Amino acid sequence: MFRRIRIFLAVDAENPQLIKAQQAAFIKQVPLLYLMLMTNVVALSLTHLSAAPPMLTLYIPGALCLGCCIRILGWWRSRHNIVSHEGAVRQLQSTVYVGVLLGVGFTSWSLSLFPYGNAYTQVHVAFFMAITVIGCIFCLMHLRTAALLIAGVVLIPFTVFFATTGNSVFTAIAINMALVSVAMVYILFKHYAGFVELIESQKALVAKQAETQKLSEENRRLADTDSLTELPNRRSFRAEFVQRLARATAEQRKLAVGIIDLDGFKAVNDTFGHAAGDHLLIEAARRLRAFSDDGIFCARLSGDEFGLLIDATLDDDQLVTLTERICQSLQQPYHIRGITANVSGSCGIARHTDGGNAVQLFERADYALYHAKQHRRGHAVVFSEDHERQIVNRSRVDQELKNANLEAEFYVLFQPFVDSGSHAILGFEALARWESPSLGRVNPDVFIPAAERGEMMGTVTNILLRKALAQACQWPAGTRLSFNLSARDIVSRETIEMLLKTIAESGFAPSCLDLEVTETAVMTNFDLAVSNINLLMAHGIGIALDDFGTGHSSLGYVHRLPLRKIKIDRSFIADIDTNVLSRNIVRTIVDLCRNIGCACVIEGMETAEQVVVLRALGCGIMQGYYFGRPMPFAETLEKLSAQSHAEKDFTENRSAVA
Ligand code: C2E
Ligand code: CA
Ligand code: CA
Repeated sequence: MFRRIRIFLAVDAENPQLIKAQQAAFIKQVPLLYLMLMTNVVALSLTHLSAAPPMLTLYIPGALCLGCCIRILGWWRSRHNIVSHEGAVRQLQSTVYVGVLLGVGFTSWSLSLFPYGNAYTQVHVAFFMAITVIGCIFCLMHLRTAALLIAGVVLIPFTVFFATTGNSVFTAIAINMALVSVAMVYILFKHYAGFVELIESQKALVAKQAETQKLSEENRRLADTDSLTELPNRRSFRAEFVQRLARATAEQRKLAVGIIDLDGFKAVNDTFGHAAGDHLLIEAARRLRAFSDDGIFCARLSGDEFGLLIDATLDDDQLVTLTERICQSLQQPYHIRGITANVSGSCGIARHTDGGNAVQLFERADYALYHAKQHRRGHAVVFSEDHERQIVNRSRVDQELKNANLEAEFYVLFQPFVDSGSHAILGFEALARWESPSLGRVNPDVFIPAAERGEMMGTVTNILLRKALAQACQWPAGTRLSFNLSARDIVSRETIEMLLKTIAESGFAPSCLDLEVTETAVMTNFDLAVSNINLLMAHGIGIALDDFGTGHSSLGYVHRLPLRKIKIDRSFIADIDTNVLSRNIVRTIVDLCRNIGCACVIEGMETAEQVVVLRALGCGIMQGYYFGRPMPFAETLEKLSAQSHAEKDFTENRSAVA
């Protein structure tokens, strides 16, 4: 029983949100409650001043008012305090106890005044008690226990006292009050239940919000992170870039953006499989992360491409030293599941001090990367004024090519390739030329990439091939034609089918035609390239692997390509008579060709010494300025006819000698 009473009297400490809400409501209502009490006490004391003794009209009400003042002061002082849960429970609990005490005090005091004075003052006592208790219940609505206890402490004695006075008016007041009390208690319960429900639903809402917040933070983290390497991803890089660029501009500080691309990653992927490729990327990301700090931000942009933001105040030399260190770290061997893979990282950098917005800066870094890939693989290249000029030229070429009359302005020259023993011309390689009315003669190194950028490569290749074939048909039978395909052509089924049609329509024997592709082109999409090569082979056309040795050659895939020829790049030939390494490389490739049964062509023969050295190495076919520069078609006819006369003379002389 006592336990039940205690539980009933106790504040619900298990519900922190409810306690907090009750405390918040009380801070505002309690001073009002005590002020009301004091006003009522003063009014009742005044009406009884002349009739009742000073103890009842001055000292006791004074003490009661003092108690009220102390309580107001206490609550007032704590109105801005952040009260702990325990503090709030204590405060509310004390309100219950003090409320009951004050209730008992006020009831006893007011009833003790009843015998003094006349009928009016007696009615004032009844009015005082009724109005005060109603006021208290209203003010304590949020603390049901306190409201109920005070109602009980005041109303029970009130009803009993006035019902037993024998006066019909007081009896009526007592009954009225009893009925009003029942209604009030009912409303109190309803209101309190509504209040608790509101707090509960707020609680649920807050919990839901917290959960949503947590989920959205996790989603944001995932959306900004690359799932394989756990580096920030492209999206995050872009946001960070814009932010850092704005800060650097505002504070006039330096910022550099870098793009790193792994050289030879595709070969690792194709040779060792995707799982090994993934491990390599994770390791590369780990090495990059070692350079990340407040000033350096690393991200994975796509496949084997990484982004750098460097906002340390480094001068140009320090910037290059830092990025070179990063490139060197990426160049260390990767030991993955028992195999060792080697790749390098080329890096293009653009500095914010060069001006420009985020997009332009990124494009500059991309251009510098393109340069690094072309000329300084495995190193860092900083975007320069020279590059800026090249970009301007490039966009001029792009523009002119779009408006060019391809049929009229494009043609091919032919460079002979010869038998290394007899020097007899075996055929010609067609080399494209563009005579632009506004730009003059443009080299293929410039316009082929422009045609690729402008999505016109297939059309350009087809026109050039048609022209080359039409002329090659006029050569003596058996003379071979080599024709270059671009990286785009070999991975486009549409282009290959178009070229097959052109070849068929030309009347040139497909068995005398070789299409040259580079290793890098094949590697962009090995499977698609192989399927296109097989289709060409099925039509009797041969495939030559051009510029061999310059890309990230992986001998593993050479075996998987049905090749008719391998053309050793001329960079190995330039120093062949002095460089032992170049000689050894050429010897190895010649052996490889012999082993896989394909012809070996040496490009870039410029001197008689080179011819001697390379013939000794066993090279069968040679091409280069020494044997003939790229020439117009008419000259090829002259050369071929001179050769046939020489052969005829040789045969006749031989039969004459015989
Ligand atoms: P490539 O296929 O390696 O062609 C050989 C290039 O080396 C030619 O440059 C040729 O003139 C040059 N060359 C030949 N012998 C020597 C030599 O002894 N010494 C030196 N220093 N150079 C020599 P060109 O004609 O400027 O062509 C450059 C590249 O443009 C070609 O390299 C080829 O990749 C591309 N290309 C040429 N014509 C076409 C074409 O019709 N279609 C496509 N897609 N690319 C072409
Ligand atoms: Ca070629
Ligand atoms: Ca070549």
